[in-house]
Amino acid sequence: MSQSMQVSRADFDRLMVPNYAPVDMIPVRGKGSRLWDQQGREYIDLAGGIAVNSLGHAHPELVEVLTEQAHKLWHVSNIMTNEPALRLASKLVAATFADRVLFVNSGAEANESAFKLARRWAHDNVGPDKHEIIACSNSFHGRTLFTVSVGGQPKYSQGFGPAIAGISHVPYNDIAALAAQISERTCAVVLEPLQGEGGVIPASTEYLQAVRELCDKHGALLIFDEVQSGMGRTGKLFAYMHSGVTPDILTSAKGIGGGFPIAAMLTTDRVAPALSVGSHGSTYGGNPLGCAVAERVLDIINTPQVLDGVAQRHALLTDGLRALADELGVFSSIRGQGLLVGAVLAERWRGQAGQVMQLAQQEGLLVLQAGADVVRLAPSLIIPEADIREALGRLRSALQKLAE
Ligand SMILES: *Cc1c(COP(=O)(O)O)cnc(C)c1O
Repeated sequence: MSQSMQVSRADFDRLMVPNYAPVDMIPVRGKGSRLWDQQGREYIDLAGGIAVNSLGHAHPELVEVLTEQAHKLWHVSNIMTNEPALRLASKLVAATFADRVLFVNSGAEANESAFKLARRWAHDNVGPDKHEIIACSNSFHGRTLFTVSVGGQPKYSQGFGPAIAGISHVPYNDIAALAAQISERTCAVVLEPLQGEGGVIPASTEYLQAVRELCDKHGALLIFDEVQSGMGRTGKLFAYMHSGVTPDILTSAKGIGGGFPIAAMLTTDRVAPALSVGSHGSTYGGNPLGCAVAERVLDIINTPQVLDGVAQRHALLTDGLRALADELGVFSSIRGQGLLVGAVLAERWRGQAGQVMQLAQQEGLLVLQAGADVVRLAPSLIIPEADIREALGRLRSALQKLAE
């Protein structure tokens, strides 16, 4: 059987396209907030597959629903619709501002769909000149050519040929900059209500309200990229619900499938018709396996029990991080919402977030970075409080080594 073939981390360097540099261990099993590697070493996982494993590893109900669906129907393409997709769409519409849903496979594809929808909508309703997209500096929207162009970080777009035209960038949380840039040519403004990759930076409510007003004034659509901030991550089902500012299009991925690849673009009856039959599509989009899992993820997360639990865990985690900051001086501030938390490295340790990741791993703890200066934590939304306490202990050991 092919499964008995021995493989190791060294094979990665020999076999794989070298666009990633994975850590030196290979995880083989996960349960809840714990992972085990090939050698049987155990880790507490505060990385959560980059904010994806919203219910931890191998959640029994997700295993059950996936297995059940696997015995029934895997794939039919969009030549046919399917029951899990319709049930999931119905629940997403009931739970949000949206009237309509498009299922795709990744955050980048959801954003690609959102940008294409915004352009097509403006094209059909106003005219071809209304195609400009305004995004925020230091944002992240995915790795397709359109989404790296909108993300606007040169390191992700350089060397890939001409970027997509008609995109500009303004500083995040700076309403004057947006007011100066937006015009009748703007078809959409896109932003993350809580910037993830950019350093775990929340948008202020006043900013979001003012962005909404500017969009309405100029007939531009407002797109919220909630690929990372959505699906309960901030303690509400979507981050926009904290501010009460409603977008015209919202993208969701990462946590929506709890680890099964699926993504969604949500929008309204006013905007959706621009993607008429044949204008856009995706072979796997709305795949029954992904939709069945995501339906159960939504059922579990969209409850007061889980969402309130996120706020409690946020308090425990950030109190612990602040205590470590006071004791060791390694962090200058702790920020974020819910269970997307950033610990900003103090002056002396700037640029060393990767080093913290490595030291933490040696202590049996998995964390993320958001840029070189911010240690990012995105654990399971239902991580046991005991695991948070133990993780803080392991982090303390790692930070002591950093501070030595
Ligand atoms: C991760 C992320 C994406 C890209 O998602 P993929 O599934 O990797 O394509 C887009 N936007 C935000 C805010 C993200 O955090």
